[in-house]
Amino acid sequence: MTADTPFLDHRDGPRDECGVFGIYGPEHDVSRLAYFALFALQHRGQESAGIAAAETGGYIITQRALGLVSQVFKEHDLRALSGDLAIGHVRYSTTGSNEWENSQPVHRSAGAGGNQRELALAHNGNLINAVELHAEMRERGVTFTSTSDSEIIAALLATHPAASIEDAIADVMPRLHGAFSTVVMTKDRVLAFRDPAGVRPLALGQIGDRYCVASETCAFDIIGATHLRDVQPGELVSIGADGIRTRQVVKGERDAFCVFEYIYFARPDSRMNGTVLQAARGRMGENLAREAPAPGADLVIAVPDSGNAAARGYARASGLPQDDGFVKNRYVARTFIQPGQELRKHGLRLKFNPLPEIVGGKKLVVVDDSIVRGNTTRQIVQMLRDAGAAEVHMRISAPPIKHPCHYGIDMSTRDEMIAHGRSVDEVAAELGADSLAYLSLAGVYDAVGGERAHHCDACFSGEYPLAGTAEANGKFAFENTLPLVQA
Ligand code: SF4
Repeated sequence: MTADTPFLDHRDGPRDECGVFGIYGPEHDVSRLAYFALFALQHRGQESAGIAAAETGGYIITQRALGLVSQVFKEHDLRALSGDLAIGHVRYSTTGSNEWENSQPVHRSAGAGGNQRELALAHNGNLINAVELHAEMRERGVTFTSTSDSEIIAALLATHPAASIEDAIADVMPRLHGAFSTVVMTKDRVLAFRDPAGVRPLALGQIGDRYCVASETCAFDIIGATHLRDVQPGELVSIGADGIRTRQVVKGERDAFCVFEYIYFARPDSRMNGTVLQAARGRMGENLAREAPAPGADLVIAVPDSGNAAARGYARASGLPQDDGFVKNRYVARTFIQPGQELRKHGLRLKFNPLPEIVGGKKLVVVDDSIVRGNTTRQIVQMLRDAGAAEVHMRISAPPIKHPCHYGIDMSTRDEMIAHGRSVDEVAAELGADSLAYLSLAGVYDAVGGERAHHCDACFSGEYPLAGTAEANGKFAFENTLPLVQA
Protein backbone atom coordinates (compact mmCIF):
# COMPACT_ATOMS: atom_id res chain seq x y z
CA MET A 1 0.00 0.00 0.00
CA THR A 2 1.51 3.34 -0.98
CA ALA A 3 1.06 6.57 0.90
CA ASP A 4 -1.52 7.59 -1.71
CA THR A 5 -3.55 4.43 -1.38
CA PRO A 6 -6.63 5.02 0.75
CA PHE A 7 -6.54 2.95 3.88
CA LEU A 8 -8.70 -0.18 3.63
CA ASP A 9 -8.96 0.45 -0.10
CA HIS A 10 -6.58 -2.41 -0.81
CA ARG A 11 -9.13 -5.19 -0.70
CA ASP A 12 -7.21 -8.33 -1.28
CA GLY A 13 -9.71 -10.13 -3.48
CA PRO A 14 -10.36 -9.36 -7.10
CA ARG A 15 -12.72 -6.46 -7.74
CA ASP A 16 -16.24 -7.38 -8.68
CA GLU A 17 -17.10 -6.18 -12.10
CA CYS A 18 -20.57 -4.84 -12.93
CA GLY A 19 -24.21 -5.75 -12.59
CA VAL A 20 -26.96 -5.13 -15.14
CA PHE A 21 -30.74 -5.23 -15.09
CA GLY A 22 -33.53 -4.59 -17.61
CA ILE A 23 -37.33 -4.77 -17.53
CA TYR A 24 -40.25 -4.13 -19.86
CA GLY A 25 -43.41 -3.74 -17.75
CA PRO A 26 -45.91 -0.92 -18.42
CA GLU A 27 -48.09 -2.00 -15.49
CA HIS A 28 -45.15 -2.04 -13.06
CA ASP A 29 -43.22 0.72 -11.31
CA VAL A 30 -40.20 -0.14 -13.45
CA SER A 31 -37.69 2.34 -12.03
CA ARG A 32 -38.45 1.17 -8.47
CA LEU A 33 -38.03 -2.46 -9.56
CA ALA A 34 -34.75 -1.50 -11.23
CA TYR A 35 -33.64 0.25 -8.03
CA PHE A 36 -34.27 -2.82 -5.88
CA ALA A 37 -32.75 -5.18 -8.45
CA LEU A 38 -29.61 -3.02 -8.47
CA PHE A 39 -29.65 -3.00 -4.69
CA ALA A 40 -29.50 -6.83 -4.81
CA LEU A 41 -26.64 -6.60 -7.34
CA GLN A 42 -24.69 -4.02 -5.32
CA HIS A 43 -21.89 -6.53 -4.58
CA ARG A 44 -21.02 -6.52 -8.30
CA GLY A 45 -20.03 -2.86 -8.29
CA GLN A 46 -19.90 -0.09 -5.71
CA GLU A 47 -18.42 2.83 -7.62
CA SER A 48 -21.43 4.07 -9.54
CA ALA A 49 -25.08 3.30 -10.17
CA GLY A 50 -27.54 4.35 -12.85
CA ILE A 51 -31.04 3.80 -14.19
CA ALA A 52 -32.49 4.74 -17.59
CA ALA A 53 -36.27 4.68 -18.09
CA ALA A 54 -38.78 5.67 -20.75
CA GLU A 55 -42.48 5.72 -21.46
CA THR A 56 -43.25 3.77 -24.61
CA GLY A 57 -42.45 6.05 -27.54
CA GLY A 58 -41.09 8.81 -25.29
CA TYR A 59 -37.60 10.04 -24.50
CA ILE A 60 -35.15 8.02 -22.47
CA ILE A 61 -34.32 9.65 -19.14
CA THR A 62 -31.07 8.57 -17.52
CA GLN A 63 -29.76 9.21 -14.03
CA ARG A 64 -26.37 7.97 -12.96
CA ALA A 65 -23.82 9.04 -10.38
CA LEU A 66 -20.82 7.85 -8.40
CA GLY A 67 -21.81 6.05 -5.21
CA LEU A 68 -23.92 3.17 -3.92
CA VAL A 69 -27.44 2.57 -5.22
CA SER A 70 -28.92 3.90 -1.96
CA GLN A 71 -26.79 7.06 -2.21
CA VAL A 72 -27.48 7.78 -5.88
CA PHE A 73 -31.31 7.49 -5.87
CA LYS A 74 -33.85 9.16 -3.65
CA GLU A 75 -37.63 8.85 -3.80
CA HIS A 76 -38.04 11.89 -6.05
CA ASP A 77 -35.46 10.49 -8.49
CA LEU A 78 -37.44 7.29 -8.92
CA ARG A 79 -40.61 9.32 -9.51
CA ALA A 80 -38.83 11.33 -12.19
CA LEU A 81 -37.73 8.06 -13.83
CA SER A 82 -41.24 6.64 -14.15
CA GLY A 83 -42.05 4.80 -17.37
CA ASP A 84 -42.87 1.51 -19.05
CA LEU A 85 -39.38 0.12 -19.41
CA ALA A 86 -36.06 0.58 -17.63
CA ILE A 87 -32.50 -0.66 -17.48
CA GLY A 88 -29.95 -0.27 -14.69
CA HIS A 89 -26.30 -0.73 -13.89
CA VAL A 90 -23.92 -0.90 -10.94
CA ARG A 91 -20.29 -0.47 -11.76
CA TYR A 92 -16.83 -1.22 -10.67
CA SER A 93 -14.49 0.20 -13.30
CA THR A 94 -12.73 -2.40 -15.42
CA THR A 95 -12.11 -0.35 -18.55
CA GLY A 96 -11.94 3.36 -17.90
CA SER A 97 -11.14 4.94 -14.59
CA ASN A 98 -13.66 5.80 -11.93
CA GLU A 99 -15.11 8.95 -13.47
CA TRP A 100 -18.71 10.03 -13.74
CA GLU A 101 -18.41 9.96 -17.55
CA ASN A 102 -17.73 6.24 -17.33
CA SER A 103 -20.77 5.42 -15.19
CA GLN A 104 -23.69 3.70 -16.88
CA PRO A 105 -26.23 3.33 -18.47
CA VAL A 106 -24.60 5.02 -21.45
CA HIS A 107 -27.14 7.22 -23.23
CA ARG A 108 -26.86 8.10 -26.94
CA SER A 109 -29.43 10.61 -28.24
CA ALA A 110 -30.75 10.39 -31.79
CA GLY A 111 -28.94 12.80 -34.14
CA ALA A 112 -26.00 13.54 -31.80
CA GLY A 113 -22.50 12.19 -32.43
CA GLY A 114 -23.54 10.42 -35.65
CA ASN A 115 -26.41 8.50 -34.00
CA GLN A 116 -29.36 7.15 -36.01
CA ARG A 117 -31.39 6.18 -32.98
CA GLU A 118 -31.73 6.92 -29.28
CA LEU A 119 -30.74 4.19 -26.84
CA ALA A 120 -29.33 3.50 -23.40
CA LEU A 121 -26.95 0.63 -22.67
CA ALA A 122 -25.51 -1.15 -19.64
CA HIS A 123 -22.65 -3.62 -19.98
CA ASN A 124 -20.81 -6.13 -17.83
CA GLY A 125 -17.58 -7.46 -19.25
CA ASN A 126 -14.59 -6.26 -21.19
CA LEU A 127 -13.99 -6.00 -24.93
CA ILE A 128 -10.56 -7.20 -25.94
CA ASN A 129 -10.76 -5.37 -29.30
CA ALA A 130 -12.02 -2.10 -27.81
CA VAL A 131 -9.04 -0.01 -28.93
CA GLU A 132 -9.43 -1.06 -32.59
CA LEU A 133 -13.18 -0.46 -32.57
CA HIS A 134 -12.76 2.92 -30.89
CA ALA A 135 -10.16 4.05 -33.46
CA GLU A 136 -12.29 2.82 -36.36
CA MET A 137 -15.35 4.69 -35.15
CA ARG A 138 -13.49 7.91 -34.54
CA GLU A 139 -12.20 7.70 -38.11
CA ARG A 140 -15.83 7.55 -39.20
CA GLY A 141 -16.48 10.77 -37.28
CA VAL A 142 -18.35 9.17 -34.38
CA THR A 143 -17.76 11.11 -31.16
CA PHE A 144 -17.46 9.78 -27.60
CA THR A 145 -17.95 11.30 -24.19
CA SER A 146 -16.24 8.60 -22.12
CA THR A 147 -13.35 6.17 -22.16
CA SER A 148 -15.40 3.05 -21.41
CA ASP A 149 -15.75 0.18 -23.83
CA SER A 150 -19.48 0.19 -23.09
CA GLU A 151 -19.86 3.44 -25.00
CA ILE A 152 -18.23 1.79 -28.01
CA ILE A 153 -20.99 -0.83 -28.09
CA ALA A 154 -23.61 1.89 -27.59
CA ALA A 155 -22.13 3.96 -30.43
CA LEU A 156 -21.93 0.98 -32.78
CA LEU A 157 -25.63 0.28 -32.17
CA ALA A 158 -26.82 3.91 -32.13
CA THR A 159 -25.09 4.74 -35.43
CA HIS A 160 -26.01 1.50 -37.18
CA PRO A 161 -28.18 2.05 -40.30
CA ALA A 162 -30.32 -1.10 -39.83
CA ALA A 163 -34.05 -0.36 -39.58
CA SER A 164 -34.50 -2.33 -36.34
CA ILE A 165 -32.38 -2.38 -33.19
CA GLU A 166 -32.48 -6.18 -33.30
CA ASP A 167 -30.86 -6.22 -36.76
CA ALA A 168 -28.31 -3.66 -35.60
CA ILE A 169 -27.35 -5.85 -32.63
CA ALA A 170 -27.21 -8.98 -34.80
CA ASP A 171 -24.78 -7.21 -37.11
CA VAL A 172 -22.63 -5.73 -34.32
CA MET A 173 -22.38 -8.77 -32.02
CA PRO A 174 -19.92 -10.73 -34.20
CA ARG A 175 -17.61 -7.69 -34.27
CA LEU A 176 -17.32 -7.55 -30.47
CA HIS A 177 -14.53 -9.71 -29.06
CA GLY A 178 -14.30 -10.48 -25.37
CA ALA A 179 -16.86 -10.66 -22.58
CA PHE A 180 -20.15 -8.83 -22.79
CA SER A 181 -23.41 -9.37 -20.97
CA THR A 182 -25.28 -6.34 -22.24
CA VAL A 183 -28.70 -4.75 -21.73
CA VAL A 184 -29.99 -2.10 -24.15
CA MET A 185 -33.19 -0.08 -24.21
CA THR A 186 -34.79 1.95 -26.95
CA LYS A 187 -38.00 3.91 -26.43
CA ASP A 188 -40.10 0.75 -26.77
CA ARG A 189 -37.95 -2.38 -26.25
CA VAL A 190 -35.45 -3.87 -23.82
CA LEU A 191 -32.80 -6.08 -25.40
CA ALA A 192 -30.22 -8.33 -23.80
CA PHE A 193 -27.33 -10.12 -25.45
CA ARG A 194 -24.39 -12.15 -24.30
CA ASP A 195 -21.00 -12.90 -25.86
CA PRO A 196 -20.67 -16.21 -27.73
CA ALA A 197 -18.58 -17.76 -24.94
CA GLY A 198 -20.98 -16.62 -22.18
CA VAL A 199 -18.15 -15.43 -19.92
CA ARG A 200 -20.31 -13.23 -17.67
CA PRO A 201 -23.70 -14.34 -16.36
CA LEU A 202 -27.04 -13.03 -17.63
CA ALA A 203 -30.38 -14.49 -16.54
CA LEU A 204 -33.88 -14.15 -17.95
CA GLY A 205 -36.83 -13.72 -15.57
CA GLN A 206 -40.59 -13.29 -15.67
CA ILE A 207 -42.72 -10.96 -13.59
CA GLY A 208 -46.45 -11.40 -14.18
CA ASP A 209 -46.68 -11.77 -17.94
CA ARG A 210 -43.69 -9.46 -18.55
CA TYR A 211 -39.98 -10.21 -18.75
CA CYS A 212 -36.80 -8.95 -17.17
CA VAL A 213 -33.07 -9.72 -17.32
CA ALA A 214 -30.38 -9.48 -14.65
CA SER A 215 -26.76 -10.41 -14.04
CA GLU A 216 -27.80 -12.68 -11.18
CA THR A 217 -30.98 -14.37 -10.07
CA CYS A 218 -30.82 -12.73 -6.61
CA ALA A 219 -32.15 -9.61 -8.39
CA PHE A 220 -35.28 -11.55 -9.40
CA ASP A 221 -35.92 -12.77 -5.85
CA ILE A 222 -36.04 -9.25 -4.44
CA ILE A 223 -38.62 -7.99 -7.01
CA GLY A 224 -40.81 -11.10 -7.05
CA ALA A 225 -39.75 -12.28 -10.52
CA THR A 226 -39.22 -15.94 -11.47
CA HIS A 227 -35.99 -17.17 -12.99
CA LEU A 228 -36.86 -18.75 -16.35
CA ARG A 229 -33.43 -19.61 -17.74
CA ASP A 230 -30.07 -18.05 -18.56
CA VAL A 231 -29.65 -15.94 -21.68
CA GLN A 232 -27.60 -18.30 -23.82
CA PRO A 233 -24.08 -17.49 -25.04
CA GLY A 234 -24.42 -15.66 -28.37
CA GLU A 235 -28.17 -15.16 -27.91
CA LEU A 236 -30.17 -11.94 -28.36
CA VAL A 237 -33.34 -11.59 -26.31
CA SER A 238 -35.77 -8.79 -27.19
CA ILE A 239 -38.69 -7.91 -24.93
CA GLY A 240 -41.51 -5.47 -25.58
CA ALA A 241 -45.29 -5.09 -25.88
CA ASP A 242 -45.45 -8.26 -28.01
CA GLY A 243 -43.72 -10.38 -25.37
CA ILE A 244 -40.35 -11.97 -25.99
CA ARG A 245 -38.40 -12.69 -29.19
CA THR A 246 -35.06 -14.49 -29.20
CA ARG A 247 -32.38 -15.10 -31.81
CA GLN A 248 -29.21 -17.16 -31.67
CA VAL A 249 -26.95 -14.60 -33.34
CA VAL A 250 -23.47 -16.08 -32.91
CA LYS A 251 -22.28 -19.59 -32.18
CA GLY A 252 -19.02 -19.54 -30.27
CA GLU A 253 -16.25 -22.10 -30.62
CA ARG A 254 -16.68 -22.97 -26.96
CA ASP A 255 -18.41 -21.77 -23.79
CA ALA A 256 -16.13 -20.08 -21.28
CA PHE A 257 -18.23 -19.18 -18.25
CA CYS A 258 -16.11 -17.52 -15.55
CA VAL A 259 -15.44 -20.13 -12.87
CA PHE A 260 -14.65 -17.35 -10.41
CA GLU A 261 -18.32 -16.34 -10.43
CA TYR A 262 -19.02 -19.56 -8.49
CA ILE A 263 -16.06 -19.13 -6.15
CA TYR A 264 -16.25 -15.47 -5.28
CA PHE A 265 -18.09 -12.87 -7.35
CA ALA A 266 -21.73 -13.84 -7.33
CA ARG A 267 -23.99 -13.65 -4.29
CA PRO A 268 -24.34 -16.98 -2.48
CA ASP A 269 -28.12 -16.98 -3.00
CA SER A 270 -27.78 -16.65 -6.80
CA ARG A 271 -28.21 -19.64 -9.07
CA MET A 272 -25.81 -20.19 -11.92
CA ASN A 273 -26.00 -23.04 -14.38
CA GLY A 274 -28.46 -24.78 -12.08
CA THR A 275 -26.41 -24.43 -8.89
CA VAL A 276 -27.16 -22.23 -5.89
CA LEU A 277 -23.77 -20.83 -5.02
CA GLN A 278 -24.00 -21.20 -1.25
CA ALA A 279 -24.23 -24.97 -1.76
CA ALA A 280 -21.45 -25.03 -4.38
CA ARG A 281 -19.14 -23.08 -2.06
CA GLY A 282 -19.92 -25.49 0.76
CA ARG A 283 -18.90 -28.39 -1.50
CA MET A 284 -15.67 -26.55 -2.33
CA GLY A 285 -14.95 -26.49 1.40
CA GLU A 286 -15.71 -30.21 1.68
CA ASN A 287 -13.38 -30.99 -1.22
CA LEU A 288 -10.73 -28.76 0.32
CA ALA A 289 -10.91 -30.72 3.58
CA ARG A 290 -10.43 -34.00 1.67
CA GLU A 291 -7.59 -32.64 -0.47
CA ALA A 292 -5.83 -30.65 2.25
CA PRO A 293 -6.48 -31.93 5.76
CA ALA A 294 -4.77 -30.18 8.65
CA PRO A 295 -3.65 -32.95 11.04
CA GLY A 296 -3.77 -31.89 14.67
CA ALA A 297 -5.94 -28.82 14.04
CA ASP A 298 -8.75 -28.33 16.54
CA LEU A 299 -10.98 -25.53 15.19
CA VAL A 300 -12.17 -24.25 11.79
CA ILE A 301 -12.86 -20.53 11.38
CA ALA A 302 -13.79 -18.47 8.31
CA VAL A 303 -12.47 -15.19 7.08
CA PRO A 304 -15.88 -13.50 7.11
CA ASP A 305 -17.87 -13.34 4.93
CA SER A 306 -15.92 -14.56 1.93
CA GLY A 307 -14.91 -17.85 3.56
CA ASN A 308 -18.16 -18.62 5.42
CA ALA A 309 -19.71 -21.26 3.18
CA ALA A 310 -16.42 -23.04 2.45
CA ALA A 311 -15.50 -23.06 6.17
CA ARG A 312 -18.78 -24.79 6.99
CA GLY A 313 -18.05 -27.34 4.27
CA TYR A 314 -14.52 -27.87 5.55
CA ALA A 315 -15.80 -28.44 9.10
CA ARG A 316 -18.48 -30.85 7.85
CA ALA A 317 -16.04 -32.99 5.88
CA SER A 318 -13.22 -32.90 8.43
CA GLY A 319 -15.37 -33.47 11.51
CA LEU A 320 -13.68 -30.50 13.21
CA PRO A 321 -15.74 -28.00 15.21
CA GLN A 322 -16.36 -24.59 13.67
CA ASP A 323 -16.75 -21.20 15.32
CA ASP A 324 -16.55 -17.48 14.53
CA GLY A 325 -12.98 -16.36 15.12
CA PHE A 326 -13.65 -12.81 13.92
CA VAL A 327 -16.39 -10.28 14.23
CA LYS A 328 -16.66 -8.30 11.03
CA ASN A 329 -17.75 -4.70 10.85
CA ARG A 330 -19.97 -4.77 7.79
CA TYR A 331 -20.12 -1.00 7.42
CA VAL A 332 -16.55 -0.39 6.30
CA ALA A 333 -17.00 1.12 2.85
CA ARG A 334 -14.55 2.23 0.24
CA THR A 335 -15.44 5.82 1.06
CA PHE A 336 -14.35 5.22 4.65
CA ILE A 337 -12.81 8.21 6.44
CA GLN A 338 -9.04 7.79 6.60
CA PRO A 339 -8.17 6.73 10.15
CA GLY A 340 -4.97 8.78 10.51
CA GLN A 341 -1.61 7.67 11.88
CA GLU A 342 -2.76 6.83 15.40
CA LEU A 343 -5.37 4.32 14.26
CA ARG A 344 -3.58 3.12 11.14
CA LYS A 345 -1.37 0.79 13.18
CA HIS A 346 -4.44 -1.17 14.20
CA GLY A 347 -4.76 -2.12 10.55
CA LEU A 348 -7.55 -4.43 9.61
CA ARG A 349 -9.05 -4.39 13.09
CA LEU A 350 -11.42 -1.71 11.83
CA LYS A 351 -12.88 -4.41 9.63
CA PHE A 352 -12.12 -7.71 11.39
CA ASN A 353 -11.80 -8.01 15.15
CA PRO A 354 -10.48 -11.39 16.35
CA LEU A 355 -11.98 -13.06 19.43
CA PRO A 356 -9.13 -14.18 21.75
CA GLU A 357 -11.59 -16.21 23.85
CA ILE A 358 -12.40 -18.32 20.78
CA VAL A 359 -9.03 -18.60 19.01
CA GLY A 360 -6.62 -18.42 21.98
CA GLY A 361 -4.47 -21.56 22.34
CA LYS A 362 -6.16 -23.18 19.30
CA LYS A 363 -4.60 -24.82 16.27
CA LEU A 364 -6.74 -23.09 13.66
CA VAL A 365 -7.81 -23.96 10.15
CA VAL A 366 -8.63 -20.56 8.60
CA VAL A 367 -10.71 -20.78 5.43
CA ASP A 368 -11.00 -18.08 2.76
CA ASP A 369 -12.07 -18.17 -0.88
CA SER A 370 -9.08 -16.58 -2.58
CA ILE A 371 -5.81 -14.74 -2.13
CA VAL A 372 -4.61 -12.21 -4.69
CA ARG A 373 -1.94 -9.93 -3.26
CA GLY A 374 -1.86 -11.42 0.21
CA ASN A 375 -1.88 -8.14 2.15
CA THR A 376 -5.11 -8.88 3.98
CA THR A 377 -4.29 -12.54 4.60
CA ARG A 378 -0.92 -11.61 6.09
CA GLN A 379 -2.62 -9.23 8.53
CA ILE A 380 -5.27 -11.81 9.38
CA VAL A 381 -2.62 -14.39 10.26
CA GLN A 382 -0.82 -11.86 12.45
CA MET A 383 -4.05 -10.76 14.18
CA LEU A 384 -4.84 -14.39 15.04
CA ARG A 385 -1.35 -14.92 16.45
CA ASP A 386 -1.67 -11.72 18.48
CA ALA A 387 -5.00 -13.06 19.77
CA GLY A 388 -3.20 -16.16 21.07
CA ALA A 389 -3.72 -18.74 18.29
CA ALA A 390 -1.25 -21.61 18.68
CA GLU A 391 -1.11 -22.44 14.94
CA VAL A 392 -2.64 -20.89 11.81
CA HIS A 393 -3.26 -23.18 8.84
CA MET A 394 -4.66 -21.26 5.85
CA ARG A 395 -6.97 -23.21 3.53
CA ILE A 396 -8.17 -21.53 0.32
CA SER A 397 -11.21 -22.81 -1.59
CA ALA A 398 -9.74 -21.90 -5.00
CA PRO A 399 -6.41 -22.54 -6.73
CA PRO A 400 -3.58 -19.96 -6.58
CA ILE A 401 -4.30 -16.85 -8.70
CA LYS A 402 -1.31 -16.27 -10.95
CA HIS A 403 -2.60 -14.56 -14.10
CA PRO A 404 -4.59 -11.39 -14.86
CA CYS A 405 -8.16 -11.42 -16.13
CA HIS A 406 -8.93 -9.83 -19.50
CA TYR A 407 -12.64 -10.47 -19.32
CA GLY A 408 -13.95 -7.87 -16.95
CA ILE A 409 -12.32 -8.49 -13.55
CA ASP A 410 -9.65 -6.31 -12.00
CA MET A 411 -7.11 -8.61 -10.34
CA SER A 412 -3.90 -6.53 -10.26
CA THR A 413 -0.88 -7.29 -12.35
CA ARG A 414 0.99 -10.59 -12.28
CA ASP A 415 3.84 -9.12 -10.26
CA GLU A 416 1.44 -8.05 -7.49
CA MET A 417 -0.01 -11.56 -7.17
CA ILE A 418 1.55 -13.32 -4.23
CA ALA A 419 1.31 -16.75 -5.87
CA HIS A 420 2.98 -15.65 -9.09
CA GLY A 421 6.48 -17.12 -9.25
CA ARG A 422 6.30 -18.58 -5.73
CA SER A 423 5.75 -22.12 -4.50
CA VAL A 424 2.91 -22.78 -2.05
CA ASP A 425 5.45 -23.10 0.79
CA GLU A 426 7.01 -19.78 -0.18
CA VAL A 427 3.58 -18.12 -0.14
CA ALA A 428 2.88 -19.65 3.28
CA ALA A 429 6.15 -18.17 4.55
CA GLU A 430 5.25 -14.77 3.07
CA LEU A 431 1.91 -14.90 4.88
CA GLY A 432 3.46 -16.08 8.14
CA ALA A 433 1.13 -19.13 8.19
CA ASP A 434 2.11 -22.52 9.64
CA SER A 435 0.76 -24.14 6.49
CA LEU A 436 -1.16 -23.18 3.36
CA ALA A 437 -3.11 -25.26 0.88
CA TYR A 438 -5.37 -24.45 -2.06
CA LEU A 439 -8.26 -26.35 -3.61
CA SER A 440 -7.36 -27.90 -6.98
CA LEU A 441 -9.16 -26.90 -10.18
CA ALA A 442 -10.57 -30.43 -10.32
CA GLY A 443 -11.96 -29.89 -6.82
CA VAL A 444 -13.62 -26.65 -7.93
CA TYR A 445 -15.23 -28.25 -11.00
CA ASP A 446 -16.40 -31.21 -8.95
CA ALA A 447 -18.08 -28.81 -6.50
CA VAL A 448 -19.89 -26.81 -9.20
CA GLY A 449 -20.80 -29.90 -11.22
CA GLY A 450 -19.37 -28.39 -14.40
CA GLU A 451 -16.76 -29.29 -16.98
CA ARG A 452 -13.58 -27.39 -17.54
CA ALA A 453 -14.15 -27.37 -21.32
CA HIS A 454 -17.15 -25.04 -20.80
CA HIS A 455 -15.50 -22.58 -18.41
CA CYS A 456 -12.79 -19.96 -18.16
CA ASP A 457 -10.19 -20.51 -15.44
CA ALA A 458 -7.42 -18.41 -17.00
CA CYS A 459 -6.52 -16.52 -13.81
CA PHE A 460 -5.58 -19.88 -12.28
CA SER A 461 -4.32 -21.81 -15.30
CA GLY A 462 -3.02 -19.07 -17.63
CA GLU A 463 -5.00 -20.71 -20.46
CA TYR A 464 -7.10 -17.92 -22.00
CA PRO A 465 -10.10 -19.42 -23.76
CA LEU A 466 -10.86 -16.57 -26.17
CA ALA A 467 -8.77 -16.05 -29.30
CA GLY A 468 -7.11 -12.65 -29.48
CA THR A 469 -6.73 -12.07 -25.75
CA ALA A 470 -3.85 -9.64 -25.49
CA GLU A 471 -1.92 -8.25 -22.58
CA ALA A 472 -2.03 -4.84 -24.27
CA ASN A 473 -5.72 -4.38 -23.59
CA GLY A 474 -5.22 -3.24 -20.04
CA LYS A 475 -7.66 -1.41 -17.88
CA PHE A 476 -6.61 2.06 -18.96
CA ALA A 477 -6.20 1.25 -22.64
CA PHE A 478 -7.98 4.37 -23.79
CA GLU A 479 -6.36 6.74 -21.37
CA ASN A 480 -2.99 5.49 -22.53
CA THR A 481 -3.54 5.42 -26.26
CA LEU A 482 -6.34 7.80 -27.14
CA PRO A 483 -7.33 11.25 -25.97
CA LEU A 484 -10.56 11.59 -24.07
CA VAL A 485 -12.95 13.12 -26.61
CA GLN A 486 -15.84 15.25 -25.47
CA ALA A 487 -18.88 15.20 -27.77
S1 SF4 B 1 -9.64 -15.04 -15.97
FE1 SF4 B 1 -10.56 -15.69 -13.99
S2 SF4 B 1 -11.86 -13.99 -13.35
FE2 SF4 B 1 -11.42 -13.68 -15.52
S3 SF4 B 1 -13.13 -14.63 -16.62
FE3 SF4 B 1 -11.52 -16.19 -16.46
S4 SF4 B 1 -11.98 -17.31 -14.54
FE4 SF4 B 1 -13.14 -15.39 -14.51
